[in-house]
Amino acid sequence: MDLYRESAQLGLVGCTIDPAYGGSGMDAAAYCAIHEELSAADPAFCLSYLASSCLFGNNLSQNGSEEQKMKYLPDFCEGKTIGGMCMSEPAVGTDVLGMQTSAVRDGDNYILNGQKMWITNGAINDTETGDVFLVYARVGDNAKELSMFIVEKDFPGFSLGQRIKDKSGMRASGTAELVFEDCVVPAENRVGPEGAAMVCMMRNLEIERVVLAAMSCGIARKSIEVMNQYGQDRKAFGKPLHSFGQIQRYISDSYAQYMAGKTYLYHTAGQMELDSSGQRLDTDGVKLFCTTMGKDVADNAIQVLGGYGYCGEYHVERLWRDAKLLEIGGGTLESHQKNMVRELLAHDKLP
Ligand SMILES: Cc1cc2nc3c(=O)[nH]c(=O)nc-3n(C[C@H](O)[C@H](O)[C@H](O)COP(=O)(O)OP(=O)(O)OC[C@H]3O[C@@H](n4cnc5c(N)ncnc54)[C@H](O)[C@@H]3O)c2cc1C
Repeated sequence: MDLYRESAQLGLVGCTIDPAYGGSGMDAAAYCAIHEELSAADPAFCLSYLASSCLFGNNLSQNGSEEQKMKYLPDFCEGKTIGGMCMSEPAVGTDVLGMQTSAVRDGDNYILNGQKMWITNGAINDTETGDVFLVYARVGDNAKELSMFIVEKDFPGFSLGQRIKDKSGMRASGTAELVFEDCVVPAENRVGPEGAAMVCMMRNLEIERVVLAAMSCGIARKSIEVMNQYGQDRKAFGKPLHSFGQIQRYISDSYAQYMAGKTYLYHTAGQMELDSSGQRLDTDGVKLFCTTMGKDVADNAIQVLGGYGYCGEYHVERLWRDAKLLEIGGGTLESHQKNMVRELLAHDKLP
């Protein structure tokens, strides 16, 4: 939490938020650079940063009303509150429109019922949730009739369910189930018109995918730095490892894959408009390419380091475990493939 607050002081938490609400007003490419750097140091810290900064902060700044932004964003940008976003449920992930959490209007309030699963910053320790969440819930019978609500941690009926601790990686990032049991949310905390949150969701998922891809580039870069150095330092058969062709292949292939991913990433980010949606093909594409690239490069680093790579000292085994999450969270590889083919069908001509 200390590091998170420090990153807020540096202006990172409100990176894409308008300075009128305390943010830094930067663009998607700057946002990627931040995620790449933080992830090269610690992907799990970066994931918690992303859930707060992008899934809560950027989402609210793009979709919230003036009153909502004035109420929540200045403290948020200063690091006084930590946020998250609740979309996934115990029985629903990729099939997000099948979500069961419901919101029913009751006078000046909505009553929310349901459970949300895998929520990053859902728990910041064993007993406490993060401070404030954007929660998607069903408000009508049609699958697309979703609304998004701002839920504060002390709203009646909102509680921490199980804290998910046995993750392969991303262990420094708190993941939890959150429970809504007749949770009372003031109607003024509904973001946007009733039943119209699909567009908010899609718009924010696009930038989420791109910064998750940036995280993978950070993992790849760090892994290459480690294996390149180790290849010089470690000797076998009287020679440095990097004099062997097979080791050269791991290092050089990794670098070329990293540069291909990074180029695609910043090309896509450089063209992104944060306030619009419909940039689906390449936002799915960079996440599809970069996340597997990051995992494969971390795997190569483990191989170059041999037994030292498989153990903790050089951190590449942790980078590999962290990298795997990025093929799942924010959309699985299969969901990107599905989305991309649908988009490609609509293109007569490729760029
Ligand atoms: C550490 C962590 C942090 C997370 N943080 C958040 C968060 O902050 N907020 C949030 O809302 N969610 C979060 N998630 C949830 C994450 O986004 C989901 O795990 C992800 O969307 C996949 O959903 P699922 O796990 O339910 O898998 P499922 O959707 O059940 O998928 C299982 C498998 O089936 C495949 N599959 C599903 N449908 C199809 C199809 N039509 N065609 C082909 N294959 C298909 C999937 O690709 C996958 O391989 C987090 C998850 C983890 C593990």
